Amino acid sequence: MSQFGYYFIHPLGFVDFTRGICFVFLSIKYTQMELHREMHGSFASKSLIRTALEYAFDYLDNLDEKDVFPQEESVLKLSAFDEQLPLKSCPPEDVLTLLHESGSPNSVAQSGGRYFGFVNGSSIPVAMASKYLSAAWDQNGGLYNTSPINSKLESICQQWLIELFDLPQETVAGFVSGTSLANFTALCTARFHLLRNLGWDINEQGLNGAPPLRIILHKQIHSSVKRTIALLGYGKRNIEWVDSDEQGRIIVDRMPKLDSSCLVLLQAGNANTGSFDDFDTVCALAKKVDAWVHIDGAFGLWAAASKTLSHLTTGIQHADSWAVDGHKALNTPYDCGIVLCKHKDALISTMQATGEYIVYSDQRDPMMYTPEMSKRSRAIELWATMKYLGRTGIEELVNQLHAQALKISEGVTDLGYTPINNVVFNQVLVKYGDEAKTNAIVSYIQKSGKAWLGGSTWKGRAVIRISVCSWATTEKDIETLISLFKEARDLVR
Ligand SMILES: *Cc1c(COP(=O)(O)O)cnc(C)c1O
Repeated sequence: MSQFGYYFIHPLGFVDFTRGICFVFLSIKYTQMELHREMHGSFASKSLIRTALEYAFDYLDNLDEKDVFPQEESVLKLSAFDEQLPLKSCPPEDVLTLLHESGSPNSVAQSGGRYFGFVNGSSIPVAMASKYLSAAWDQNGGLYNTSPINSKLESICQQWLIELFDLPQETVAGFVSGTSLANFTALCTARFHLLRNLGWDINEQGLNGAPPLRIILHKQIHSSVKRTIALLGYGKRNIEWVDSDEQGRIIVDRMPKLDSSCLVLLQAGNANTGSFDDFDTVCALAKKVDAWVHIDGAFGLWAAASKTLSHLTTGIQHADSWAVDGHKALNTPYDCGIVLCKHKDALISTMQATGEYIVYSDQRDPMMYTPEMSKRSRAIELWATMKYLGRTGIEELVNQLHAQALKISEGVTDLGYTPINNVVFNQVLVKYGDEAKTNAIVSYIQKSGKAWLGGSTWKGRAVIRISVCSWATTEKDIETLISLFKEARDLVR
């Protein structure tokens, strides 16, 4: 007979059993109440938020001295986080202290001005500050009914972005985690739209047996686009690859003849060289046959905001969809990606968010424009950034990134480095001597703690990549970077 049965049959056992249950129940309830009380106490006194702010101020005050990338011995201290899932609660202050003492030193100093890695922006002060405020709001940005303020700010940002990039008025925006997801959202929409034109409803009929779409990609398209194509069920072997030129731009003359089953992918800002495709010509070809053009403009689309650089984005308004990041050239906090699409109906039909409990309003419901439901209210910081900078401030920021990139390029060329790209925007590619020397220089600068940049490969060869992407970068930071290039050169020479 099982233990369980015994308790019910034996009269005393039954009493024991109920007593046991009561005890377990009461003790769970007791600890719950205690924790509950403690959390209410912290909430009311705001002591934890104050502590977190103190730590944040301490971090920002010491940012200049901090290693841009943590040194090895610092990274070892991350073992402070190694433990089993705690059985019991701990004082909440301990959580923050551990984060600050072992976490802060092992962050990457991206909020400062000497980070030149990937294409990672900083966060302008008012945007960072509004993130602190919106943390207190903790909004679920999915619906108007979960956050009227987020819904409002999304509408405002949508309109401002249309004006800034000079896109068609009917364009709609969805706010997602980054350009990867913005590309994904746009390409799902393109697939829906192209197949619908060919008499096929992807939502109802699915991909099996669907008319084939032709995917036209140039070889220098960003890896996130290639990944999206695979996720959409179109294998790499089905892609019609087009050659790119020495700057990484699509060679228009090599494009195949387009038809209404074509999805053409272009790029505003090559992640290595920063180069821009010829949007005008390609969009004109695509328009004639109702092909879809998508532009990945993660950081490069912001060139449209500058009078002196907007020649780079000529013709973008003739595309069907665009992807752009706030967290790169615009310097909003992470994460902030935006999908823009000229075909509202196709976008909403593709994202088809429904559910019995979902109550749409007659206001903007953000989740109708993205694959996400519950989501961060990223429009808050995006709005704060654009509201603060204004059109001229955004232009100034973009121009500054470009001017500083030119300065770095000249500085290192004077030191004997070989320039690889035309610095049309914020990306600088150089090399020094052979691959081994080039790689050694990257490693020297990375380990210096004084700045950080990445290595990359261009046309199969190792190169040094400098991305100027932070409002915080000063003339002094650029001098520091250039002197690091000098030290490194002297070392490998
Ligand atoms: C950064 C980047 C992406 C990916 O964007 P995430 O915001 O990191 O998702 C896509 N395309 C280009 C050209 C990029 O620079």
